[in-house]
Amino acid sequence: MKIAVIGTGYVGLVQGACLADTGNDVVCMDIDRRKISLLRRGKIPIYEPGLEEVVRRNVKEGRLTFVTSLASAARKSDVIFLCLPTPPSDDGAADVTRVLQVTKRIRGLLNGHKIIVSKSTVPVGTVDRIRQLLRGAAYPVDVVSNPEFLKEGSALQDSMHPDRIVIGSRSPRAVEVLRELYEPFVRTGNPIVVMDERSAEMTKYAANCMLATKISFMNDLANLCDRLGVDIEMVRRGIASDPRIGKQFLFAGVGFGGSCFPKDVKALLKTGESAGYQLRLMRAVDQVNETQKRVLVAKLVEHFRGRVRGRRIAVWGLSFKPLTDDVREAPALVIIQDLLQMGAQVVVHDPAAMTTARKILGRRVKYCRNAYDAVKGADALVVVTEWNEFRRPDFVRLKKLMRHSAIFDGRNIFEPAEMSKMGFVYHGIGRRVEATGGSKE
Ligand code: NAD
Repeated sequence: MKIAVIGTGYVGLVQGACLADTGNDVVCMDIDRRKISLLRRGKIPIYEPGLEEVVRRNVKEGRLTFVTSLASAARKSDVIFLCLPTPPSDDGAADVTRVLQVTKRIRGLLNGHKIIVSKSTVPVGTVDRIRQLLRGAAYPVDVVSNPEFLKEGSALQDSMHPDRIVIGSRSPRAVEVLRELYEPFVRTGNPIVVMDERSAEMTKYAANCMLATKISFMNDLANLCDRLGVDIEMVRRGIASDPRIGKQFLFAGVGFGGSCFPKDVKALLKTGESAGYQLRLMRAVDQVNETQKRVLVAKLVEHFRGRVRGRRIAVWGLSFKPLTDDVREAPALVIIQDLLQMGAQVVVHDPAAMTTARKILGRRVKYCRNAYDAVKGADALVVVTEWNEFRRPDFVRLKKLMRHSAIFDGRNIFEPAEMSKMGFVYHGIGRRVEATGGSKE
Protein backbone atom coordinates (compact mmCIF):
# COMPACT_ATOMS: atom_id res chain seq x y z
CA MET A 1 0.00 0.00 0.00
CA LYS A 2 1.16 3.57 -0.60
CA ILE A 3 1.40 5.48 2.64
CA ALA A 4 2.30 9.00 3.70
CA VAL A 5 3.26 9.87 7.25
CA ILE A 6 3.00 13.58 8.01
CA GLY A 7 5.18 14.59 10.96
CA THR A 8 8.30 12.47 11.35
CA GLY A 9 8.80 12.66 15.11
CA TYR A 10 8.68 9.88 17.72
CA VAL A 11 5.33 8.61 16.50
CA GLY A 12 5.67 9.31 12.78
CA LEU A 13 9.13 7.86 12.32
CA VAL A 14 8.30 4.67 14.20
CA GLN A 15 4.99 4.31 12.37
CA GLY A 16 6.66 4.88 9.01
CA ALA A 17 9.47 2.43 9.75
CA CYS A 18 7.09 -0.32 10.94
CA LEU A 19 4.73 0.01 7.99
CA ALA A 20 7.65 -0.01 5.55
CA ASP A 21 9.02 -3.10 7.28
CA THR A 22 5.86 -5.04 6.42
CA GLY A 23 6.29 -4.22 2.74
CA ASN A 24 4.40 -0.96 2.29
CA ASP A 25 5.70 1.97 0.30
CA VAL A 26 6.10 4.73 2.87
CA VAL A 27 7.02 8.36 2.48
CA CYS A 28 7.66 10.28 5.70
CA MET A 29 7.22 14.04 5.49
CA ASP A 30 8.32 16.74 7.92
CA ILE A 31 8.73 20.52 7.78
CA ASP A 32 11.99 20.20 9.71
CA ARG A 33 14.57 20.18 6.89
CA ARG A 34 17.43 19.30 9.20
CA LYS A 35 15.59 16.22 10.44
CA ILE A 36 14.76 15.06 6.91
CA SER A 37 18.29 15.65 5.73
CA LEU A 38 19.67 13.61 8.68
CA LEU A 39 17.24 10.77 7.93
CA ARG A 40 18.20 10.77 4.27
CA ARG A 41 21.80 10.27 5.36
CA GLY A 42 20.72 7.28 7.45
CA LYS A 43 20.96 9.13 10.79
CA ILE A 44 18.20 8.91 13.37
CA PRO A 45 17.35 12.24 15.02
CA ILE A 46 15.99 10.62 18.20
CA TYR A 47 17.26 8.00 20.62
CA GLU A 48 15.00 4.97 20.32
CA PRO A 49 16.39 1.46 20.74
CA GLY A 50 16.35 -0.66 17.57
CA LEU A 51 14.88 2.03 15.34
CA GLU A 52 18.00 2.89 13.39
CA GLU A 53 18.37 -0.63 12.04
CA VAL A 54 14.76 -0.85 10.82
CA VAL A 55 14.93 2.60 9.22
CA ARG A 56 18.22 1.80 7.46
CA ARG A 57 16.96 -1.56 6.22
CA ASN A 58 13.83 -0.08 4.69
CA VAL A 59 15.60 2.93 3.21
CA LYS A 60 18.03 0.51 1.57
CA GLU A 61 15.18 -1.58 0.18
CA GLY A 62 13.62 1.60 -1.23
CA ARG A 63 10.41 1.22 0.79
CA LEU A 64 11.02 4.22 3.08
CA THR A 65 11.73 7.73 1.82
CA PHE A 66 11.86 11.15 3.46
CA VAL A 67 10.59 14.42 2.00
CA THR A 68 9.80 17.97 3.05
CA SER A 69 7.07 18.43 0.46
CA LEU A 70 3.54 17.74 1.64
CA ALA A 71 2.34 17.73 -1.97
CA SER A 72 4.60 14.91 -3.10
CA ALA A 73 3.83 12.85 0.03
CA ALA A 74 0.07 13.32 -0.16
CA ARG A 75 -0.33 12.85 -3.91
CA LYS A 76 1.60 9.58 -3.98
CA SER A 77 -0.37 7.95 -1.18
CA ASP A 78 -3.67 6.23 -0.53
CA VAL A 79 -3.44 6.44 3.25
CA ILE A 80 -2.15 9.55 5.02
CA PHE A 81 -1.21 9.28 8.70
CA LEU A 82 -1.17 12.56 10.62
CA CYS A 83 1.48 12.28 13.35
CA LEU A 84 1.66 15.96 14.13
CA PRO A 85 2.33 17.56 17.50
CA THR A 86 -0.64 18.64 19.61
CA PRO A 87 1.11 20.64 22.35
CA PRO A 88 -0.74 22.29 25.20
CA SER A 89 -2.12 25.78 24.56
CA ASP A 90 -1.76 28.43 27.28
CA ASP A 91 -5.05 27.31 28.83
CA GLY A 92 -4.05 23.63 28.83
CA ALA A 93 -6.22 22.53 25.90
CA ALA A 94 -4.51 20.48 23.18
CA ASP A 95 -3.52 22.75 20.29
CA VAL A 96 -4.76 21.06 17.13
CA THR A 97 -3.78 23.92 14.82
CA ARG A 98 -1.18 21.90 12.93
CA VAL A 99 -3.56 19.00 12.39
CA LEU A 100 -6.22 21.32 10.96
CA GLN A 101 -3.76 23.35 8.88
CA VAL A 102 -2.27 20.26 7.27
CA THR A 103 -5.78 18.93 6.59
CA LYS A 104 -6.67 22.14 4.75
CA ARG A 105 -3.55 21.84 2.63
CA ILE A 106 -4.23 18.18 1.87
CA ARG A 107 -7.72 19.14 0.69
CA GLY A 108 -6.14 21.21 -2.07
CA LEU A 109 -3.79 18.38 -3.02
CA LEU A 110 -6.31 15.55 -3.43
CA ASN A 111 -5.92 13.54 -6.61
CA GLY A 112 -8.15 10.59 -5.75
CA HIS A 113 -9.83 8.84 -2.80
CA LYS A 114 -7.71 9.00 0.37
CA ILE A 115 -7.92 7.79 3.92
CA ILE A 116 -6.68 10.35 6.43
CA VAL A 117 -5.74 8.77 9.75
CA SER A 118 -5.29 10.91 12.84
CA LYS A 119 -2.61 9.35 15.03
CA SER A 120 -2.00 12.53 16.99
CA THR A 121 -3.59 12.66 20.42
CA VAL A 122 -6.51 15.00 19.84
CA PRO A 123 -9.56 16.05 21.86
CA VAL A 124 -12.89 14.40 21.22
CA GLY A 125 -14.48 15.97 18.15
CA THR A 126 -11.26 16.70 16.25
CA VAL A 127 -11.90 14.02 13.63
CA ASP A 128 -15.32 15.62 13.11
CA ARG A 129 -13.55 18.95 12.54
CA ILE A 130 -11.15 17.35 10.05
CA ARG A 131 -14.08 15.81 8.20
CA GLN A 132 -15.85 19.18 8.17
CA LEU A 133 -12.81 20.79 6.56
CA LEU A 134 -12.86 18.17 3.82
CA ARG A 135 -16.55 18.46 3.05
CA GLY A 136 -17.15 19.20 -0.65
CA ALA A 137 -13.54 18.34 -1.59
CA ALA A 138 -12.74 17.23 -5.13
CA TYR A 139 -12.46 13.56 -4.08
CA PRO A 140 -13.99 11.52 -1.26
CA VAL A 141 -11.94 11.17 1.93
CA ASP A 142 -12.41 8.81 4.85
CA VAL A 143 -11.19 10.21 8.17
CA VAL A 144 -10.15 7.79 10.91
CA SER A 145 -9.04 8.15 14.51
CA ASN A 146 -6.27 5.66 15.23
CA PRO A 147 -4.65 6.70 18.51
CA GLU A 148 -1.10 5.69 19.23
CA PHE A 149 -0.15 3.87 22.43
CA LEU A 150 3.61 3.44 22.01
CA LYS A 151 5.96 4.19 24.89
CA GLU A 152 9.11 6.16 24.24
CA GLY A 153 12.08 3.95 24.99
CA SER A 154 10.32 0.86 23.64
CA ALA A 155 8.48 2.52 20.77
CA LEU A 156 9.62 0.09 18.11
CA GLN A 157 8.81 -2.97 20.17
CA ASP A 158 5.40 -1.51 21.10
CA SER A 159 4.56 -0.74 17.49
CA MET A 160 5.75 -4.10 16.18
CA HIS A 161 3.80 -5.92 18.92
CA PRO A 162 0.97 -3.64 20.04
CA ASP A 163 -1.29 -4.70 22.95
CA ARG A 164 -4.20 -3.52 20.85
CA ILE A 165 -5.00 -1.38 17.86
CA VAL A 166 -7.87 1.05 18.16
CA ILE A 167 -9.60 2.07 14.94
CA GLY A 168 -12.21 4.78 15.22
CA SER A 169 -14.22 4.84 12.02
CA ARG A 170 -17.69 4.13 10.76
CA SER A 171 -16.46 3.64 7.21
CA PRO A 172 -16.27 -0.11 6.41
CA ARG A 173 -13.89 0.68 3.55
CA ALA A 174 -11.45 2.56 5.82
CA VAL A 175 -11.67 -0.07 8.56
CA GLU A 176 -10.86 -2.78 6.04
CA VAL A 177 -7.77 -0.95 4.78
CA LEU A 178 -6.48 -0.29 8.29
CA ARG A 179 -7.11 -3.87 9.33
CA GLU A 180 -5.02 -4.98 6.39
CA LEU A 181 -2.22 -2.62 7.39
CA TYR A 182 -2.21 -3.69 11.03
CA GLU A 183 -2.88 -7.46 10.73
CA PRO A 184 0.86 -8.30 10.45
CA PHE A 185 1.46 -6.70 13.87
CA VAL A 186 -1.26 -8.56 15.78
CA ARG A 187 -0.69 -12.09 14.57
CA THR A 188 -0.44 -13.37 18.15
CA GLY A 189 -4.09 -12.45 18.62
CA ASN A 190 -3.99 -9.05 20.26
CA PRO A 191 -7.23 -7.27 19.37
CA ILE A 192 -8.04 -4.71 16.76
CA VAL A 193 -10.84 -2.79 18.43
CA VAL A 194 -13.14 -0.95 16.04
CA MET A 195 -15.32 1.84 17.39
CA ASP A 196 -16.67 5.25 16.44
CA GLU A 197 -14.26 8.15 16.01
CA ARG A 198 -15.13 10.06 19.19
CA SER A 199 -14.81 6.97 21.39
CA ALA A 200 -11.41 6.28 19.85
CA GLU A 201 -10.27 9.81 20.61
CA MET A 202 -11.41 9.43 24.22
CA THR A 203 -9.77 5.99 24.53
CA LYS A 204 -6.34 7.56 24.13
CA TYR A 205 -6.98 10.08 26.92
CA ALA A 206 -8.50 7.36 29.08
CA ALA A 207 -5.36 5.22 28.74
CA ASN A 208 -2.88 7.98 29.58
CA CYS A 209 -4.99 9.49 32.34
CA MET A 210 -5.51 6.09 33.99
CA LEU A 211 -1.75 5.49 34.03
CA ALA A 212 -1.10 9.00 35.32
CA THR A 213 -3.67 8.36 38.06
CA LYS A 214 -1.82 5.24 39.22
CA ILE A 215 1.41 7.20 39.45
CA SER A 216 -0.09 10.13 41.33
CA PHE A 217 -1.91 7.75 43.66
CA MET A 218 1.35 6.04 44.64
CA ASN A 219 3.18 9.37 44.97
CA ASP A 220 0.49 10.79 47.21
CA LEU A 221 0.55 7.65 49.33
CA ALA A 222 4.38 7.72 49.45
CA ASN A 223 4.31 11.21 50.94
CA LEU A 224 2.01 9.93 53.67
CA CYS A 225 4.27 6.88 54.17
CA ASP A 226 7.16 9.31 54.74
CA ARG A 227 5.27 10.84 57.64
CA LEU A 228 4.16 7.53 59.15
CA GLY A 229 7.40 5.55 58.94
CA VAL A 230 5.91 3.19 56.37
CA ASP A 231 7.88 1.88 53.38
CA ILE A 232 6.00 2.51 50.11
CA GLU A 233 8.08 -0.20 48.42
CA MET A 234 6.71 -2.80 50.83
CA VAL A 235 3.22 -1.46 50.22
CA ARG A 236 3.78 -1.66 46.46
CA ARG A 237 4.93 -5.25 46.70
CA GLY A 238 1.96 -5.98 48.90
CA ILE A 239 -0.56 -4.81 46.32
CA ALA A 240 1.14 -5.37 42.96
CA SER A 241 0.31 -9.04 42.57
CA ASP A 242 -3.41 -8.31 42.77
CA PRO A 243 -4.49 -8.56 39.12
CA ARG A 244 -7.25 -6.04 39.75
CA ILE A 245 -4.55 -3.49 40.54
CA GLY A 246 -1.80 -4.61 38.17
CA LYS A 247 1.95 -4.53 38.63
CA GLN A 248 2.84 -1.59 36.46
CA PHE A 249 2.92 2.13 37.13
CA LEU A 250 2.98 1.63 40.91
CA PHE A 251 6.43 3.06 41.55
CA ALA A 252 6.57 6.17 43.68
CA GLY A 253 8.98 8.82 42.46
CA VAL A 254 9.44 12.42 41.45
CA GLY A 255 6.34 12.58 39.27
CA PHE A 256 5.52 11.87 35.67
CA GLY A 257 6.84 13.93 32.77
CA GLY A 258 7.27 13.51 29.04
CA SER A 259 5.40 14.88 26.10
CA CYS A 260 2.21 12.94 26.79
CA PHE A 261 0.96 12.38 30.36
CA PRO A 262 1.17 15.98 31.65
CA LYS A 263 -0.35 17.48 28.52
CA ASP A 264 -3.00 14.81 28.12
CA VAL A 265 -4.17 15.14 31.73
CA LYS A 266 -4.44 18.92 31.30
CA ALA A 267 -6.17 18.58 27.93
CA LEU A 268 -8.79 16.18 29.32
CA LEU A 269 -9.45 18.60 32.17
CA LYS A 270 -10.05 21.29 29.56
CA THR A 271 -12.34 18.98 27.56
CA GLY A 272 -14.31 18.42 30.76
CA GLU A 273 -14.58 22.17 31.40
CA SER A 274 -15.75 22.83 27.85
CA ALA A 275 -18.42 20.17 28.28
CA GLY A 276 -19.51 21.67 31.62
CA TYR A 277 -18.10 18.83 33.71
CA GLN A 278 -15.36 19.04 36.34
CA LEU A 279 -13.07 16.01 36.30
CA ARG A 280 -12.16 16.24 39.99
CA LEU A 281 -10.02 13.12 40.06
CA MET A 282 -7.88 14.27 37.12
CA ARG A 283 -7.50 17.70 38.72
CA ALA A 284 -6.06 16.01 41.80
CA VAL A 285 -3.79 13.79 39.67
CA ASP A 286 -2.37 16.90 38.03
CA GLN A 287 -1.91 18.76 41.32
CA VAL A 288 -0.21 15.81 43.02
CA ASN A 289 2.17 15.55 40.09
CA GLU A 290 3.09 19.24 40.11
CA THR A 291 3.98 19.15 43.81
CA GLN A 292 5.71 15.78 43.54
CA LYS A 293 8.43 17.22 41.30
CA ARG A 294 9.53 19.31 44.28
CA VAL A 295 9.48 16.64 47.01
CA LEU A 296 13.09 15.57 46.51
CA VAL A 297 14.45 19.12 46.62
CA ALA A 298 12.47 19.77 49.81
CA LYS A 299 14.19 16.73 51.36
CA LEU A 300 17.55 18.02 50.21
CA VAL A 301 16.91 21.48 51.67
CA GLU A 302 15.89 19.90 54.96
CA HIS A 303 18.97 17.69 54.96
CA PHE A 304 21.27 20.68 54.49
CA ARG A 305 19.19 22.75 56.94
CA GLY A 306 18.44 25.27 54.21
CA ARG A 307 22.11 25.83 53.35
CA VAL A 308 22.17 24.76 49.70
CA ARG A 309 24.02 27.77 48.24
CA GLY A 310 27.45 26.83 46.96
CA ARG A 311 26.87 23.09 47.40
CA ARG A 312 27.89 20.81 44.59
CA ILE A 313 24.96 18.57 43.66
CA ALA A 314 25.33 15.70 41.21
CA VAL A 315 22.23 14.77 39.21
CA TRP A 316 21.97 11.39 37.53
CA GLY A 317 19.31 11.25 34.84
CA LEU A 318 17.80 14.07 32.79
CA SER A 319 15.35 12.35 30.44
CA PHE A 320 11.79 11.97 31.70
CA LYS A 321 12.31 8.21 31.76
CA PRO A 322 15.07 5.73 30.84
CA LEU A 323 15.91 4.72 27.26
CA THR A 324 14.98 8.03 25.72
CA ASP A 325 16.65 11.37 25.07
CA ASP A 326 13.34 13.16 25.52
CA VAL A 327 13.40 15.82 28.25
CA ARG A 328 10.01 17.36 27.52
CA GLU A 329 8.36 18.09 30.90
CA ALA A 330 11.08 16.04 32.59
CA PRO A 331 11.02 16.33 36.41
CA ALA A 332 14.84 16.63 36.27
CA LEU A 333 14.49 20.07 34.69
CA VAL A 334 12.28 21.34 37.53
CA ILE A 335 14.62 19.86 40.15
CA ILE A 336 17.69 21.38 38.52
CA GLN A 337 16.08 24.81 38.09
CA ASP A 338 15.17 24.78 41.80
CA LEU A 339 18.70 23.78 42.81
CA LEU A 340 20.21 26.49 40.61
CA GLN A 341 17.83 29.06 42.01
CA MET A 342 19.04 28.19 45.50
CA GLY A 343 22.61 28.79 44.41
CA ALA A 344 23.74 25.17 44.10
CA GLN A 345 26.37 24.13 41.62
CA VAL A 346 24.78 21.37 39.53
CA VAL A 347 26.74 18.66 37.75
CA VAL A 348 24.75 16.30 35.55
CA HIS A 349 25.05 13.02 33.71
CA ASP A 350 22.59 11.18 31.48
CA PRO A 351 23.39 8.32 29.10
CA ALA A 352 21.32 9.78 26.24
CA ALA A 353 19.70 13.10 27.05
CA MET A 354 22.62 15.53 27.54
CA THR A 355 22.25 17.07 24.08
CA THR A 356 18.52 17.62 24.42
CA ALA A 357 18.90 18.93 27.99
CA ARG A 358 21.68 21.30 26.97
CA LYS A 359 19.23 23.09 24.68
CA ILE A 360 17.23 24.05 27.78
CA LEU A 361 19.79 24.26 30.57
CA GLY A 362 22.62 25.71 28.49
CA ARG A 363 25.79 26.43 30.43
CA ARG A 364 24.14 26.79 33.81
CA VAL A 365 25.08 23.22 34.72
CA LYS A 366 28.20 21.16 34.18
CA TYR A 367 27.79 18.08 31.93
CA CYS A 368 29.79 14.92 32.59
CA ARG A 369 30.12 12.06 30.14
CA ASN A 370 30.60 9.63 32.98
CA ALA A 371 28.35 9.10 36.00
CA TYR A 372 31.33 8.89 38.39
CA ASP A 373 32.86 12.13 37.09
CA ALA A 374 29.61 13.85 38.00
CA VAL A 375 29.84 12.86 41.68
CA LYS A 376 33.46 13.96 42.20
CA GLY A 377 33.49 16.30 45.19
CA ALA A 378 29.68 16.33 45.34
CA ASP A 379 27.81 17.13 48.54
CA ALA A 380 24.87 15.05 47.36
CA LEU A 381 23.78 12.74 44.58
CA VAL A 382 20.26 13.15 43.26
CA VAL A 383 18.97 10.27 41.13
CA VAL A 384 16.13 11.41 38.91
CA THR A 385 15.89 8.86 36.08
CA GLU A 386 16.12 5.13 36.68
CA TRP A 387 18.51 4.25 33.87
CA ASN A 388 19.74 0.67 34.33
CA GLU A 389 23.35 1.77 34.67
CA PHE A 390 22.47 3.75 37.82
CA ARG A 391 20.91 0.79 39.58
CA ARG A 392 24.02 -0.99 40.78
CA PRO A 393 26.87 1.50 40.85
CA ASP A 394 30.17 0.85 42.61
CA PHE A 395 29.13 2.32 45.94
CA VAL A 396 32.63 2.14 47.42
CA ARG A 397 33.93 4.24 44.54
CA LEU A 398 30.96 6.55 44.85
CA LYS A 399 31.60 7.12 48.53
CA LYS A 400 35.28 7.83 47.94
CA LEU A 401 34.50 10.33 45.19
CA MET A 402 31.79 12.24 47.03
CA ARG A 403 32.60 14.94 49.56
CA HIS A 404 29.52 14.23 51.59
CA SER A 405 27.70 10.94 51.10
CA ALA A 406 24.05 11.91 50.86
CA ILE A 407 21.89 10.20 48.27
CA PHE A 408 18.47 11.50 47.20
CA ASP A 409 16.88 8.65 45.30
CA GLY A 410 14.00 10.03 43.26
CA ARG A 411 13.10 6.62 41.84
CA ASN A 412 13.59 4.38 44.85
CA ILE A 413 16.15 2.27 43.02
CA PHE A 414 18.37 1.68 46.06
CA GLU A 415 17.62 -0.20 49.27
CA PRO A 416 17.64 2.11 52.31
CA ALA A 417 19.06 -0.51 54.68
CA GLU A 418 21.95 -1.33 52.34
CA MET A 419 22.65 2.36 51.82
CA SER A 420 22.82 2.99 55.57
CA LYS A 421 25.08 -0.04 56.01
CA MET A 422 27.47 1.42 53.46
CA GLY A 423 27.51 4.73 55.29
CA PHE A 424 25.33 6.78 53.01
CA VAL A 425 22.67 9.13 54.28
CA TYR A 426 19.78 7.93 52.18
CA HIS A 427 16.56 9.70 51.25
CA GLY A 428 14.02 8.00 49.01
CA ILE A 429 10.38 8.75 48.22
CA GLY A 430 8.23 7.18 50.93
CA ARG A 431 11.00 4.82 52.05
CA ARG A 432 11.46 3.72 55.63
CA VAL A 433 15.14 4.38 56.11
CA GLU A 434 15.71 2.04 59.04
CA ALA A 435 13.76 -0.72 57.29
CA THR A 436 15.45 -4.07 57.15
CA GLY A 437 14.39 -4.37 53.54
CA GLY A 438 11.81 -7.10 54.06
CA SER A 439 11.70 -10.00 51.68
CA LYS A 440 12.91 -9.36 48.16
CA GLU A 441 10.64 -9.96 45.16
P1 NAD B 1 7.23 15.07 17.82
O1 NAD B 1 7.31 16.48 18.25
O2 NAD B 1 8.30 14.11 18.18
O3 NAD B 1 7.06 14.99 16.23
C1 NAD B 1 6.20 15.79 15.49
C2 NAD B 1 6.86 16.13 14.17
O4 NAD B 1 5.93 16.87 13.38
C3 NAD B 1 8.10 16.99 14.29
O5 NAD B 1 9.17 16.37 13.64
C4 NAD B 1 7.72 18.31 13.62
O6 NAD B 1 8.80 18.91 12.93
C5 NAD B 1 6.66 17.84 12.66
N1 NAD B 1 5.75 18.89 12.22
C6 NAD B 1 5.26 19.95 12.90
N2 NAD B 1 4.43 20.67 12.13
C7 NAD B 1 4.40 20.06 10.92
C8 NAD B 1 3.73 20.32 9.71
N3 NAD B 1 2.93 21.37 9.59
N4 NAD B 1 3.92 19.47 8.67
C9 NAD B 1 4.75 18.41 8.80
N5 NAD B 1 5.42 18.11 9.92
C10 NAD B 1 5.24 18.92 10.97
O7 NAD B 1 5.82 14.56 18.36
P2 NAD B 1 5.43 13.06 18.74
O8 NAD B 1 5.97 12.74 20.09
O9 NAD B 1 5.73 12.16 17.61
O10 NAD B 1 3.85 13.21 18.91
C11 NAD B 1 2.98 13.36 17.81
C12 NAD B 1 1.56 13.14 18.31
O11 NAD B 1 1.42 11.81 18.78
C13 NAD B 1 1.15 14.05 19.46
O12 NAD B 1 -0.22 14.33 19.34
C14 NAD B 1 1.37 13.18 20.67
O13 NAD B 1 0.57 13.54 21.74
C15 NAD B 1 1.00 11.81 20.13
N6 NAD B 1 1.64 10.69 20.84
C16 NAD B 1 2.95 10.76 21.20
C17 NAD B 1 3.54 9.67 21.84
C18 NAD B 1 4.97 9.72 22.30
O14 NAD B 1 5.34 8.88 23.11
N7 NAD B 1 5.79 10.64 21.84
C19 NAD B 1 2.80 8.50 22.09
C20 NAD B 1 1.47 8.47 21.67
C21 NAD B 1 0.90 9.56 21.04
